[in-house]
Amino acid sequence: MLAAGLVLVSVGCRTERPADAPLTEVTLSTPGAYVVSTGAVDRSASPSPPAAAVPAAAAQPRQPTDASAAAVTPSAVSPARLPTNGWIALAKWSASAGLGQPHRIAMETYAVATPRGKAVFQPGSQCVRWEGVNVWLGFAPRYLEGQPHLHALDVQRTLGPLVGGPRPLAPRSRVVVLDPGHGGADGGTQGARDQLEKNFALDWALRTAALLRQKGWEVHLTRTNDLDLTLPERIVAADRLCASLFVSLHFNGLAADARHSGIETFCTTPVGLPSSVKRNGEDLLAVEHPNNRFDAENLRLAYRIHRELLSATQALDGGVRRARFISVIRAQGRPAVLVEGGFLSNPAEARRVATPAYRQKLAEALARAIE
Ligand SMILES: [Zn+2]
Repeated sequence: MLAAGLVLVSVGCRTERPADAPLTEVTLSTPGAYVVSTGAVDRSASPSPPAAAVPAAAAQPRQPTDASAAAVTPSAVSPARLPTNGWIALAKWSASAGLGQPHRIAMETYAVATPRGKAVFQPGSQCVRWEGVNVWLGFAPRYLEGQPHLHALDVQRTLGPLVGGPRPLAPRSRVVVLDPGHGGADGGTQGARDQLEKNFALDWALRTAALLRQKGWEVHLTRTNDLDLTLPERIVAADRLCASLFVSLHFNGLAADARHSGIETFCTTPVGLPSSVKRNGEDLLAVEHPNNRFDAENLRLAYRIHRELLSATQALDGGVRRARFISVIRAQGRPAVLVEGGFLSNPAEARRVATPAYRQKLAEALARAIE
């Protein structure tokens, strides 16, 4: 059976089609070393761990496994020369990042004070709660010599862009492409009472476009009516318009569990990090996609959008996640994010999404995030 996280996307969001930009194999300084002999990376075809919407505080800590096989933690880590491999003591990272020392706030739970709140880590859980928002790491923190450690790639590619708080997006131009998912014969996921994702996504995009135009953005939609576009067409549209940002809008569905709800925000997984959501267990860590040039900007954009959406809606926090299989963002030559604005398979959430007032909230939050 496929991972729950994959189903969340694939049921409502056929975001995978074969056509794509060419892939690049990255030459690593130590080939294969980024995989780290931790046992944490699933390189088989087995399903990835369930990627349910689990707040960090509620995430089930797991016992560290095979810690002895982990790469040795450097004895002295210079912030300027962080390794691309291995594990870094949480305390060492927080000191190098100019943050407070970690303190244990509960069993298997550590908090680091940040200027705007705190970062909460749980060894065994890939989910870190960063200043009130769930962000999925590539590797679950683990204990080494009794101390919680973070993977160096997460320090660089996940935590690094978040330290220092929200930064201006500084786009190359104020041209944004909003991409309402699905359209035409592809209705996307379907809620109760035949509510179709494609219609809600388009309405969300139109509302957001109006707000962004008031802020001086040049806004383009990949579709403004009930048109069925291929994913390559959506990518080409952004290229042709020289967009500086791309945001794909979707709603989710999980047929297997109508209780599931919440908002999830996706960006492309950086090279070397395992994705938090995989497709058919595949997750080629060494492949660099065009959108990987914007890893830091992707994460910051995703974080900003996710935080604003949660604040506006009080929806369950499904986290900022990373995936490689989402063609429509991984091929983008600009910061790109895909948002799943709620589960239409959850009757209560579907009822909320079905109201214009709720979709206006979603639009206002998205416009605030884009500035
Ligand atoms: Zn969708």
